[in-house]
Amino acid sequence: MLDWSEPAAPSLRMPLPLVAQATVAADQTGLGTIDRSGGRVSVDDKRMINCRADVNQLLPLKYKWAWEKYLAGCNNHWMPTEVSMQADIALWKSRDGLTEDERRAIKRNLGFFAASESLVANNIVLAIYRHLTNPECRQYLLRQSFEEAVHTHTFQYIVESLGLDEGELFNMYREVPSITDKAAWALKHTQHLDDPDFKTGTPQADQAFLRDLVAFYVIFEGMWFYTGFAQILSLGRRNKMVGIAEQYQYILRDESIHLNFGIDVINQIKIENPDLWTKAFQDEVRAMVRDAAELEAAYGRDTMPRGFLGLNAALCETYMHFIANRRCAQLGLQRVFDETENPFPWMSEAMDLKKEKNFFETRVIEYQNGGALSWE
Ligand code: MN
Ligand code: FE
Repeated sequence: MLDWSEPAAPSLRMPLPLVAQATVAADQTGLGTIDRSGGRVSVDDKRMINCRADVNQLLPLKYKWAWEKYLAGCNNHWMPTEVSMQADIALWKSRDGLTEDERRAIKRNLGFFAASESLVANNIVLAIYRHLTNPECRQYLLRQSFEEAVHTHTFQYIVESLGLDEGELFNMYREVPSITDKAAWALKHTQHLDDPDFKTGTPQADQAFLRDLVAFYVIFEGMWFYTGFAQILSLGRRNKMVGIAEQYQYILRDESIHLNFGIDVINQIKIENPDLWTKAFQDEVRAMVRDAAELEAAYGRDTMPRGFLGLNAALCETYMHFIANRRCAQLGLQRVFDETENPFPWMSEAMDLKKEKNFFETRVIEYQNGGALSWE
């Protein structure tokens, strides 16, 4: 039950018409008792959080951007096993094809992503989904969850193909401090929501929800993944680990939609709940972005103590500052670092796959469609 007369901060809540208050106890999960006298859904009743309209009815659509991202995700479907690993296997097994520094960076990179994809998936399914009370956004979350499963599958496929030590890779987020620090930082924001008694509907709870969205969408997927992509794509550009690099390009394509969905969700919640986006809260989000860039710089120094093939920890730190400022701008916040050029301009090309015709021609599997199904 929402308390709109929150005594601690009565002026923070937008006044709602009486009629809305009467239905405000609406079932936010969609799993409650069916309201047999419930009227048809009106677009005006749909809300990102603390929704009053039935969450089990997709139509009428209110947030076209969420539906479009769902369609874009479906159009980008891929599976890791479509990518040939032959060249990577040969290079990985060759004695002098890769330097020790390159091997270390590749393994730590894979180790970071292997567990991170699961952390992101768990956050969507166990924390975000429940509180995002809009069916078109949930439709996207369902698609995104599957994509995270595909990404985790990618690391299983890489481990198997290269014959890597699965325990070493998947347990890295608990063994390598620079990876643990990032995972622990993000997890502390999702842990609030994991409390079975957590409910949105107060300014404090709604801000906790926003913090989790910032931590996972803007920082985890929107900042930390990007250094990881830069490392592997930089190897790929030099013809090393080209199979993994191709898979990372597909993951990057998915992740750029995840990030943009998260940004749109946060900005829409801001529009609907301007009282949440206080100056103090904005400062807090900017501090989160700044801390996250520092954690990433530490991870960069740890994974690339000496640098290789035009990539090093200092360049990655500059890149993170560039990305951090960009994420602030996307949220309508002031930048947190001095303005800087993008040291990896080729990353934007890698992101814009639609322009790369050849990329799609590498697909080797045709998906089974309805006409191909046999019921015998
Ligand atoms: Mn992912
Ligand atoms: Fe993602």
